[in-house]
Amino acid sequence: MNFESKFSVTVNRIKSNIIRELLKTATAEGIISFGGGIPDPETFPIKKLSEISNEVIMNEYKIALQYGSTEGDPELRKQYIRLLEKYEDITCLDEENLMITTGSQQALFIIGTVFLDEDSYCAVSKPIYLGAGSAFNQRNPNYISIPLEKDGMNLDILEKELKKLDEEGKIDKFKFVYTVSNFHNPAGITLTLEKRKRLIELAEKYDFIIIEDDPYGALRFEGEKMPSIFKLNKGERVILLNTFSKVLSPGLRIGVIVGNKELIKKMVLAKQGMDLCSSTLTQRITARFMEKYDLFEEIQPTIKLYKEKKDKFMESLEKYLGDLEEVDWVRPEGGLFSWITLPEGFDTMEMFEIAKEKKIIYIPGETFYVDEPERNTMRVSFCLPSFEDLEEGSKRLRATIEEYAKK
Ligand code: PMP
Repeated sequence: MNFESKFSVTVNRIKSNIIRELLKTATAEGIISFGGGIPDPETFPIKKLSEISNEVIMNEYKIALQYGSTEGDPELRKQYIRLLEKYEDITCLDEENLMITTGSQQALFIIGTVFLDEDSYCAVSKPIYLGAGSAFNQRNPNYISIPLEKDGMNLDILEKELKKLDEEGKIDKFKFVYTVSNFHNPAGITLTLEKRKRLIELAEKYDFIIIEDDPYGALRFEGEKMPSIFKLNKGERVILLNTFSKVLSPGLRIGVIVGNKELIKKMVLAKQGMDLCSSTLTQRITARFMEKYDLFEEIQPTIKLYKEKKDKFMESLEKYLGDLEEVDWVRPEGGLFSWITLPEGFDTMEMFEIAKEKKIIYIPGETFYVDEPERNTMRVSFCLPSFEDLEEGSKRLRATIEEYAKK
């Protein structure tokens, strides 16, 4: 049978996930991979989780193995409100301000469904988190792509674009700005306090919503912790997305949307048609974990490990790339990623073949754009390789760059 005529316009718009394709080739012996943006499995609290899982199944099976509400487990929402109070000083939230999602990835898909039509506009960073692009692309919106600078999005460019839309009479079609406020994926960059405040001012002036996606904020190694955009705006027009993927385990598939009750109600409707509810089992396990342990104390060893790896990686990049002209990289204060920029004219996708020969993997930057890509960039993650591999990988990267430059 020829299936072509059966496919929807939407599914035909979806491109295969290049990261997944590239990482398939990254499993051969001896390969050092800076590719995967996944946590180190050795950081998962397996003993504590297995004890709690057992207790939850034995003692709470009537809830934990049953369907649950679309909004999410009340016990987990209660625990999460407590956590936001304690660590973010965000008070005055109640359960109706929160919805549990199947990872933040589902939250992004829900955001697309709730806000975007084909004639809508939204602003995203350039580069963008690939998964956000995939989720929003399904709605086929008009993107306004805003370059990232060392201190976050270029808000002058955003304002210029907003003014233009206003003059063209299209500003009511502008729905939101999507931002990863801390230790951006893929760029490792953090939005400064001044820019957070200015973004809120722009949102008030041009009447849009801010989607603050913050999976990495808790993984700060150094520098001063900043208030979330959500907190600065008292949650009025900011939707905060969080996840347990980087602080507990991605396999639980638990994310949280925090926002205005009216918005949450619409998101609940959108989620109902997707999966009825997130896993009741992993929600209850997560709730009991948070009740019994202090999540942030539990992740301190992980933060220490990632910081040491980041330091080693920065030192190695300096050693092997430091003397190369027009080569620069982001020195992140937390999270999992750095972003390397090579001289104009480099194409890191093309260079990938040489990298594979030299047994080193990175993610070519062109995968992280919804419009014209910057091909001389790459994402590198430092949390999985061993200390020795961080050094050896940097050396191989140098050799790769040199060989490509000779071509
Ligand atoms: N947003 C960003 C910026 C991410 O980096 C990720 C994970 N890589 C997600 C959302 C999705 O995370 P999850 O679905 O595991 O919660």
